[in-house]
Amino acid sequence: MEATPGRMERAIVIGASVSGLLAARALANHFERVIVVERDVLPPPGQPRKGVPQGRHAHVLLSRGVDLLEAFFPGLTQELVSQGAIAGDLSETVRWFSMGAYTRNFPSGLKSMQASRPLLEGTLYRRLCALPNVTVLQNHDVTGLLTRPSVRDGELRVNGVTAVDRAKPGPMEMELEADLVVDAGGRGSRSLAWLESLGYPRPEEEHIKMNLSYTSRVFRRLPEHANGQSPVVILPSFNNRRGGTMLAVEGGRWVVTLAGYLGDAAPADLDGFIEFARSLDAPDCYDILKTAEPLSEASQYKYAASQRRRFEKLTRFPEGLLVCGDAMCSFNPIYGQGMTTAACEAELLDSCLRQGLTGLAPRFFRRASRLLDSPWDIAAGSDLAYPEVEGRRAPAMRMVGLYLDRLLKASRQDTVLNLAFQRVTNLIDPPASLFRPHIVWRVLFMQRSA
Ligand SMILES: Cc1cc2nc3c(=O)[nH]c(=O)nc-3n(C[C@H](O)[C@H](O)[C@H](O)COP(=O)(O)OP(=O)(O)OC[C@H]3O[C@@H](n4cnc5c(N)ncnc54)[C@H](O)[C@@H]3O)c2cc1C
Repeated sequence: MEATPGRMERAIVIGASVSGLLAARALANHFERVIVVERDVLPPPGQPRKGVPQGRHAHVLLSRGVDLLEAFFPGLTQELVSQGAIAGDLSETVRWFSMGAYTRNFPSGLKSMQASRPLLEGTLYRRLCALPNVTVLQNHDVTGLLTRPSVRDGELRVNGVTAVDRAKPGPMEMELEADLVVDAGGRGSRSLAWLESLGYPRPEEEHIKMNLSYTSRVFRRLPEHANGQSPVVILPSFNNRRGGTMLAVEGGRWVVTLAGYLGDAAPADLDGFIEFARSLDAPDCYDILKTAEPLSEASQYKYAASQRRRFEKLTRFPEGLLVCGDAMCSFNPIYGQGMTTAACEAELLDSCLRQGLTGLAPRFFRRASRLLDSPWDIAAGSDLAYPEVEGRRAPAMRMVGLYLDRLLKASRQDTVLNLAFQRVTNLIDPPASLFRPHIVWRVLFMQRSA
């Protein structure tokens, strides 16, 4: 197939994890055929897999993410619930401890979805495969980009990928042509190296090094534990760089993730894991874990730094290629933003494609950059408040940090502030909304009276 600029016949997505599946869903609205190429053999919903090692750790889906996934796949929430996931009101259900106190529970209208990551991803995959114009090529490794000179500007145009079938012996490469290739290959995406080998510059990268460690285990969930299904979130603080999350997931299980900042890590052995839970700022995890029945071994994940690649700043980029998801921006997972941001990017891709393929890459990267500013600023701002975390600090950051600190403390009892804060962290409102006059007034007033 000879790819012609502007033609929307075939799109290829690299990677069938959350951002790849959602990008494919958006592409299916515009292309006659969408092929998702995935290195792994994809297991049935609920089973973890090698290419997504983070799937063994607690995965929070933000309220905006719940809404976007439902919009892409109507009925998805109900389908997840029918498989044992737990849907609820975020502010009503979460037992939330931050900076020395619990947050008051109240009905907020914000949604929460408790499901294991493999159930969520597997269900998205099943729904995507039900679309008549989508094919998933499992067990295939994308090895490079196909290019030809662009008729428009003499630059290169990406018109497909090369891939190998991992089930077949020997490195027999096949060529898959397409009008658009979307790289959703995750943080380790090879697009940067491929682009470099074609003579294109690498995008600028920003890093915020917090040296985070996740250790997770699965336990049996009983009705007497935290109402049997209330998620627990204990955030790290300036006095204690340790945090924990317990998510009630399908199959009567808790996924318990313990996090250590700046090189600290929960041990993998059961006793050490439970002792680490005892050292958190609140006793909720420990109180359950000390008698709960373990159902798995520990999984550990070292996350060195949040990473943002500034594709929007590149002056040269080939037509016919986009990069999305963690390959473009990967956030400290403690803020639970990755999957929701992937959904926002898929919504953006859908919108950008309405104007066709011409000029798509600069259009998409420019708008994606604006979209990424909110989650990036939330994660970066919170992490850079720790003096030991390495990263670039804007001069105004200290003042903003002090204000947000007051807001957060006041919001534990003030439900108006809490809702404003939750709407920002759930990627519904921009961070600037926390500086609206009525919010500023409330923050200052609540602090004085506290
Ligand atoms: C420890 C941890 C905890 C997290 N917790 C949360 C959370 O609570 N909430 C949240 O929203 N997000 C969380 N995230 C982030 C979230 O997992 C990601 O943002 C999300 O998976 C989207 O990533 P992705 O699809 O871009 O890439 P990935 O999930 O990394 O997937 C990349 C996919 O591409 C495939 N692939 C790569 N290269 C090739 C190739 N050459 N050929 C074929 N296939 C290829 C891989 O096999 C894989 O399937 C967490 C991340 C980590 C590390």
